[in-house]
Amino acid sequence: MKINLISDTVTRPTPEMLQAMFAAEVGDDVFRADPTVNALEEKAAQLFNKPAAIFCPSGTMTNQIAIKVHTQPLDEVICDHYSHIYQYETGGYAFNSGVAMNLLQGTNGKIEADQVAAAIKPLYDWLPVSKLVVLENTCNKGGGSYYTLNEILPIRDLCQRRGLKLHLDGARLFNALIETEETTQDVGDHFDSISICLSKGLGAPVGSLLIGESEFIRQARRFRKVMGGGMRQAGYLAAAGIYALDHHVNRLKEDNDHAKLIGETLEVCPLVSQVRPVKSNIVIFDLQTPHTAEKILARFEEKGVLASAFGPHTIRFVTHLEVTADMIAKTQKVIREILG
Ligand SMILES: *Cc1c(COP(=O)(O)O)cnc(C)c1O
Repeated sequence: MKINLISDTVTRPTPEMLQAMFAAEVGDDVFRADPTVNALEEKAAQLFNKPAAIFCPSGTMTNQIAIKVHTQPLDEVICDHYSHIYQYETGGYAFNSGVAMNLLQGTNGKIEADQVAAAIKPLYDWLPVSKLVVLENTCNKGGGSYYTLNEILPIRDLCQRRGLKLHLDGARLFNALIETEETTQDVGDHFDSISICLSKGLGAPVGSLLIGESEFIRQARRFRKVMGGGMRQAGYLAAAGIYALDHHVNRLKEDNDHAKLIGETLEVCPLVSQVRPVKSNIVIFDLQTPHTAEKILARFEEKGVLASAFGPHTIRFVTHLEVTADMIAKTQKVIREILG
């Protein structure tokens, strides 16, 4: 069997999760009549100490809706240049919301309050209006780097003083919280809106949640509908999400620890020029030139290990719940054979 480290999105529901889905009570969620979706939304809101939440098909949709509700056309969003909302959402910020991006050069995808302060534009007719700051936690392209609350607080203070909204792209937030030992309530208290993915490390097949104030979520419901995200008997998917939040959060530590083992193995390989600091379940590393990701990945595949290219000379491994300790040991062995 191949060891699939392409992404933590490749997981399939466990038998127990499938059982929960099979047993779900459902209704038409466009009429707010799906009890399981309602239960998931309530659960998510409570987790983050916010009044409301909305279940969406993807994290791209939750982020896009958040940008849409928080901004007007000709506003701008301030974020790190590695951000998913900038890199991997098809330029949707411009298409859906008519906003500009003000990109900061952070450290492994993390930005600081003084950078944000310097980026906020004065109110001139000829400039976009700085309206929203987006933090990504963990940061995918940053190699799974994460923020602590102490790092977030000064940014939050600044946003409040300057009248900017703060959104969290928390696709892999739980991989961060398992390391920092901070709570979802702590997070909820310091963001205007939060997006989390159920379909990444948490292991659900589909779905993300957007969490925020009641009026924010009321508007989000309209934008979800116009984006085509109003689902009917979505309770089957929501049941997987509830199961994931109940059973798959604490085990993320294992994924993070597995990634560290891979990172340590890569660190001493002569064909590797640099490994981004391994903080959670993502490992990104650069190859010595002239080695290309494409060729090296083909060799990994021959040996039963799948990973993805993150640039011409850059490779990404992601650990997840289908990856066992044995598979990590095998992966380390293959890494030593190919890159050692
Ligand atoms: C995966 C991901 C998303 C959302 O992706 P979808 O595939 O649309 O669910 C958003 N932000 C980050 C950082 C991600 O890694």
